[in-house]
Amino acid sequence: MPTDPTYLIVGASLCGAKAAETLREEGFGGRVILLGSETERPYERPPLSKGYLLGKEDKSVIYVHEEGWYAGHDVDLRLGVTVTAVDPVGRTVTTADGESIGYDRLLLATGASPRRLNIPGADRDGVLYLRAVGDSERLAAAFRGGGRVVTVGAGWIGLETTAAAREAGCEVTVIEPEPTALNRAIGTELGEMFADLHREHGVQFRFGESVSELRGPGGRVGEVITSSGAALPADIVVVGIGAVPNTGLAADAGLEIDNGVVADAALRTSDPGIYAAGDLANSYHPLLGRRVRVEHWANALNSGPAAARSMLGQDVAYDPVPYFFSDQYDLGMETAGLPEPGTYDQVLYRGDRPGREFIAFWLAGGAVVAGMNVNVWDVSDDIQALIRSRRKVDPARLTDPDIPIAEV
Ligand SMILES: Cc1cc2nc3c(=O)[nH]c(=O)nc-3n(C[C@H](O)[C@H](O)[C@H](O)COP(=O)(O)OP(=O)(O)OC[C@H]3O[C@@H](n4cnc5c(N)ncnc54)[C@H](O)[C@@H]3O)c2cc1C
Repeated sequence: MPTDPTYLIVGASLCGAKAAETLREEGFGGRVILLGSETERPYERPPLSKGYLLGKEDKSVIYVHEEGWYAGHDVDLRLGVTVTAVDPVGRTVTTADGESIGYDRLLLATGASPRRLNIPGADRDGVLYLRAVGDSERLAAAFRGGGRVVTVGAGWIGLETTAAAREAGCEVTVIEPEPTALNRAIGTELGEMFADLHREHGVQFRFGESVSELRGPGGRVGEVITSSGAALPADIVVVGIGAVPNTGLAADAGLEIDNGVVADAALRTSDPGIYAAGDLANSYHPLLGRRVRVEHWANALNSGPAAARSMLGQDVAYDPVPYFFSDQYDLGMETAGLPEPGTYDQVLYRGDRPGREFIAFWLAGGAVVAGMNVNVWDVSDDIQALIRSRRKVDPARLTDPDIPIAEV
């Protein structure tokens, strides 16, 4: 008698947990096994650099599901279990404690890890990263003491963490080799707006500099040496220099790797039994006409379910307009689309830029390719629809705040 099929998910975070949920919602009656290295049940990471780090939100906000949800939906959640090898031919995975688990279909949702500093002194105590809930708790405890923080990297994680450190009363200096904050993410003009926001809150920036060494007494960090030779006193160094996809398992299994695990629009990898989603996957995006790897919450939320449907044999073309949000001090923003350098030829604004209540639109050939609403709400869906439509817009109507975006 044939046994029930086993659908195995490696990576028990937002993407993996939402995939498991979708398998059950779609009526899959076989075994669903969800394996994760971390010991917490699946949780969402955005609060770790915002409300939870600031002590304004309770830990309960982070979880994807209630504790009993997994057993209640017959999802075999195994925490503290690291998968060390995948055998695509035998269709088995091996765990760190030597167990072999067979699968019929496998979803890799192993996410990404912080890029590490590789300079003398990088392993000193007091050099902190932020990815997991424990990291957030360590940072919160470190910030509570006040003191001098040096943030390495003026990207989203670096800036959100800087805001939390300032709100806790720390002195913060941010070191960034680019000419301003978020330079590659949103361009110089808008990046400078974020830098100004932080300056108004007392943050010092050292743009055009990198960190060359961390020094200090007794194995602890006490001083940050920059590429210009400056020595900055530091009780804590927070490193936010990007993330790298956790491709090791997939690479060892012989899957195609290129800035993540390569997948088609149905999130199938180069092996017919293996799928990839979330921060890990570099999947073909039909709307954008190229492969993209998106390290955003909404992508983990939506690509897990898309991969699950694909595993069930449904026709899937995963192509949402990428979406991202950030909160820093009293500024909230959402970005739709990917305003990467070279993908646009014009930036237009509507609303009050000095008052930081506006929308920025990035255009290519007269069509909107990305939009960022800053302290303006309930417009992201319309911006996404505009991007999806690919139609040329009238700049005067686009920048007129009295014309609803849906009618531009
Ligand atoms: C602090 C922080 C704040 C963020 N804030 C925002 C935000 O404001 N807005 C936004 O859009 N995005 C934000 N993001 C990004 C967002 O959280 C990620 O895009 C999302 O977590 C990706 O989910 P994932 O499930 O693909 O991967 P991950 O969340 O990285 O999870 C992968 C999981 O797989 C596990 N794993 C890895 N290898 C193995 C293995 N071999 N065996 C078993 N388990 C394994 C890992 O331990 C991990 O639990 C933030 C990220 C961080 C770190």
